[in-house]
Amino acid sequence: MKTVYNFSAGPAVLPKSVLEKVQQELLDYEGTGMSVMELSHRSAPFQQIIEGAEALLRELLSIPEDYHVLFMQGGASLQFSMIPLNLLGPGQTAEYILTGSWSDKAVKEADKVGEVRTHKVETQTAIPSYSAKDFSENAQYVHITSNNTIEGTRFNGYPETGDIPLVADMSSHILSEKLDVSRFGLIYAGAQKNLGPSGVTVAIIRKDLVGNAPDHCPVLLNYETYVKHGSLFNTPPTFAIYVLKLVLEWVKENGGVEGMEARNQEKADLLYSYIDQSGLFHNPVREENRSLMNIPFTATDDEINARFLKEAKEAGFEFLKGHRSVGGMRASIYNAMPLEGVKELVEFMKNFEKKQ
Ligand SMILES: *Cc1c(COP(=O)(O)O)cnc(C)c1O
Repeated sequence: MKTVYNFSAGPAVLPKSVLEKVQQELLDYEGTGMSVMELSHRSAPFQQIIEGAEALLRELLSIPEDYHVLFMQGGASLQFSMIPLNLLGPGQTAEYILTGSWSDKAVKEADKVGEVRTHKVETQTAIPSYSAKDFSENAQYVHITSNNTIEGTRFNGYPETGDIPLVADMSSHILSEKLDVSRFGLIYAGAQKNLGPSGVTVAIIRKDLVGNAPDHCPVLLNYETYVKHGSLFNTPPTFAIYVLKLVLEWVKENGGVEGMEARNQEKADLLYSYIDQSGLFHNPVREENRSLMNIPFTATDDEINARFLKEAKEAGFEFLKGHRSVGGMRASIYNAMPLEGVKELVEFMKNFEKKQ
């Protein structure tokens, strides 16, 4: 089998050692004689898995005591609905900073539930700074997409919101760099980019924000349900939570979030510095807002983009096609992308450029 490097935006590359462990244990989970997929979610071995996953996430992100960690389904997209259903009551207002496609989708759901005030960025290639004076004092929360998977941007310093809870969609960069959880009221992420396989969604929510949903809120859309039942009100995505726990163990073994950040910085620097001096490829994002995880780039014309993608695929560089709204290419280089993969991609790009 030739070496394949997976640059998909999600579901995305997983650490090879994690996949090997899954394979090893697949038919017999820790001497139970059963696959982890077959274990009751109420069994002791699964209880250990879900509690272990929570403990590891708490340790890796130094999550303070006054936050709950919840495991849910429905992806980040269901959070777009759950957040306003739980936090935005009648006559109240929430504020959304619109920095790209995902925040546009998030605000649409909030609009169905209550009053929304939006802050749209002037260009999708930069994100300005925000301070408390940009928000009305009685806003229920301020929502941001902290890393914009499609546009390749990220906040450089999170908005100061004073006493207003800051809510962040961190789907595409959670655990990729150091994070002060106490700055946020709620952090959420679909797992399939940096945490594990698709099917599980993680939320880290400050305790005082739970328990405010209206009576008509469906039970599975109420954060309180997950809190009261340790994310086991109904059957959770057991296999996805198991793999997520293995990924968290891998993060810990590889230097924790600080180790991830150092490696991610090195990978991103390598790719950006080549692109910036290239006469063929271009990344349009303002330097201080460049994502460490998702790096869009285009060649000088569409014919070259198409040829690059075809040749890259043949050489084992998969899923480099950019999102249709941006065009060109996008390299998603999440935690699990090895440095070697980025080095080889840059080599391939250099050789391709030379031939033009
Ligand atoms: C991928 C992604 C989503 C959508 O996640 P689903 O789990 O598919 O709902 C939302 N927000 C961001 C920032 C993403 O990268």
